[in-house]
Amino acid sequence: SFITFEGGEGAGKSTQIERLKSRLERLSHPVLVTREPGGSPRAEQIRSFILEGQAKQFGPFAEALLFAAARIDHLDKTIEPALRRGTHVLSDRFADSTRAYQGSLGNVDSGLIDGLERVALKGTRPDLTFILDLPAEVGLSRAGQRRASKGEGVDRFEQEDLSFHQSLRQAFLAIARSSPRRCAVINADRSADEVEEAVWAIIGERLP
Ligand code: C5P
Repeated sequence: SFITFEGGEGAGKSTQIERLKSRLERLSHPVLVTREPGGSPRAEQIRSFILEGQAKQFGPFAEALLFAAARIDHLDKTIEPALRRGTHVLSDRFADSTRAYQGSLGNVDSGLIDGLERVALKGTRPDLTFILDLPAEVGLSRAGQRRASKGEGVDRFEQEDLSFHQSLRQAFLAIARSSPRRCAVINADRSADEVEEAVWAIIGERLP
């Protein structure tokens, strides 16, 4: 199955992906972990191009096109071959991030986002999407602590303010409401162990 994790900064996506991977592997399921933007050599090049800031001058519409181009390669080279082998694919972000960041936050028309999704995904949709949900203040403060502990600065994407992250949260919740069969909203404002249990419970219910 194809499982994606979405959410704002500091939601704990990468931690939960690693934990779900371990749980599935303990049951002898093959697992591939991947991420967006990126996930294949060419898509990673597009990621660096965007994260290094050269793409900012393009604005959200061109960014959405670049992410769609990266996603086509990611599906073609990484996700679809793994699914064909019967490997579970866990992706840290996927098309919903484009809908939230470039669509809702960047004001790219939702019909256009739909069209890009149709072209890029060609029917390969996630079986299950976890929306890790938490108050914007909590996510930002976690992300700030992580950067401080690693001595990192903020990248191209991480300079947005509280109201940006509040709108982002609402954008992901709106996606969950419009695709309730695919999406599961998980309260991520609690310990990693508790979130892990909640994720595992949903896996049991929805992916028997
Ligand atoms: O590690 P993380 O997935 O949070 O980093 C990727 C960054 O790229 C995010 O902080 C997000 O702001 C940005 N992004 C974006 N549009 C997307 C996907 C990611 O602006 N479609």
